[in-house]
Amino acid sequence: MTVFACEPEWAALTKTLVPEATVRTATTHLQDPHHIEARPSLIAQLRGADFAICTGAELEAGWLPMLQDRAGNPKVQNGRPGMFYAAQHVDLIDPFKGTVTPFSGDVHAQGNPHFHTDPRRVMLVAKALAGRLGQLFPDKKTQVDQNLVKFEDELSRRIVVWEKQAAPLKGRTVITQHASFGYVWAWLGIKPIADLEPRPGVPPTASHLERVIALSKTQQPVAIVIAQHHDPKPGRWLAKSMDMERKLLILPATVSDEQPDSIIRWFDQLVAQLSSLAK
Ligand SMILES: [Zn+2]
Repeated sequence: MTVFACEPEWAALTKTLVPEATVRTATTHLQDPHHIEARPSLIAQLRGADFAICTGAELEAGWLPMLQDRAGNPKVQNGRPGMFYAAQHVDLIDPFKGTVTPFSGDVHAQGNPHFHTDPRRVMLVAKALAGRLGQLFPDKKTQVDQNLVKFEDELSRRIVVWEKQAAPLKGRTVITQHASFGYVWAWLGIKPIADLEPRPGVPPTASHLERVIALSKTQQPVAIVIAQHHDPKPGRWLAKSMDMERKLLILPATVSDEQPDSIIRWFDQLVAQLSSLAK
């Protein structure tokens, strides 16, 4: 069973359910999944896949359709059971309200597609994925169902621990960059007060940063949180200007390896790092 995963979190989730699957991942935690080059190596990987798992909700709109077209693999075309979009199995927050133009940047017209940062949504995706894998690969169904139960048990137990650990952060404020961790804020009751990107995917201007500083003076953010694949310059500049250098968190936006326990380890680290700021 050869699987093509657009993002490492879905590669890891697939490995959780089918540890022996050969999984090729199109992106790493150091890349922005909005912007990937449709390289020949990716086309070849998609061509050889029995199954593909991607986020959907237009996250890969700039590159996946071209890969599907060039790979010419009927198993992973849209509408086929071998093409699984995680976004079809969860509700999305914060759909972009406005007219999308070529200058709008990486807007999320269908809602925020970075929902792998909410463990409850990951659980829903895991269930739907297990169902699909069981249908497509009946000989794996028993194993997939058993691994799903194990994952659900572990994740449910961890969610309780993480929520308790992050409880002191409830109602606190953060400055962010892009909506990469938008679901984390919603889940843990943290309030993002400003985004370093004035428009998604567009670098900040000096006047925008001045506004962020003004807002921070009244709202006292507990941290500036950016993802490792973001340009760290605006965040570093802001942290320095506000004397908050120790409160600049540069976090991986997703798992950095693709093992069956990667997703849980990633949440462990994320919650630990955020919680350390509340002290
Ligand atoms: Zn985005």
